[in-house]
Amino acid sequence: MGIDTLSRPAIFLDRDGVLVEEIFYPRTGEREAPLAPEDVRLLPGVAPALRHLAAADYALVVISNQAGYAKGKASLRALWLAHERFVALLAEQDAKLDGCYYSYGHPDGIVPHFSGPSLDRKPGPYNVFIAAAQLDLDRQGSWMVGDRQTDVACAHAAGLRPILITSCGKASGHDGDLIRAPDLPSAAEIILKGRSRAA
Ligand SMILES: [Mg+2]
Repeated sequence: MGIDTLSRPAIFLDRDGVLVEEIFYPRTGEREAPLAPEDVRLLPGVAPALRHLAAADYALVVISNQAGYAKGKASLRALWLAHERFVALLAEQDAKLDGCYYSYGHPDGIVPHFSGPSLDRKPGPYNVFIAAAQLDLDRQGSWMVGDRQTDVACAHAAGLRPILITSCGKASGHDGDLIRAPDLPSAAEIILKGRSRAA
C-alpha cells in the first residue's frame, strides 16, 4: 500500500472573477482583484456551490495570482486583509476552503523583490503541486475552475481538468475539448453530475 492511498481529489479555484467580484478602480482604469478588504464581495451562489463540492468530498483550494503589491497598487497588508475578509465572508455562509495559495510577484512589477519571473505564478503549476503535496491531493480526478486562459494552461500543466468561466457564457457547454460555464454554480453542477455518473 502506497502512502498516497488517502489522497483525495480537489477543486482548484481561481479567486477573482470566479469566487469574488472583480472591482473597477477608476485610479487604474481596470476591473481587477479587490485591493482592499472592504471591496471584497462574493459572487452569487458561490458559498452554496462550495458547500456542495465539499459535501462530495472534494478538497477546495484557491490558486490565485495577486500582483497588486508588485505593481504598486496596494500594500501587502491590504491584500492579506482582503484575503481574510474573503475567508470570513465564506465562513458566514458555512463554506470553508482547505487552502489558499497566492502568488504575489509579477514579471512587470515595480516593487523590488516582487518583480521579475515568478515560479509560483499561474500559468505555472507550481502552487498546484505544492498544495497537492501539503494537503495530500490526487491531481488525477481533480479540476481547475478559472476565468482566464492562464487558468486553463495551469490546469493542463498540472494534469487537472479545466472549466473556463466565461462572463458572457450564456449556457454551459463544450468548446472543442474545453468545458465552459457561466459561473461557479454551473461549473459545480458539471463536476457533480460527472461524479454521480462515475459512481
Ligand atoms: Mg480570475
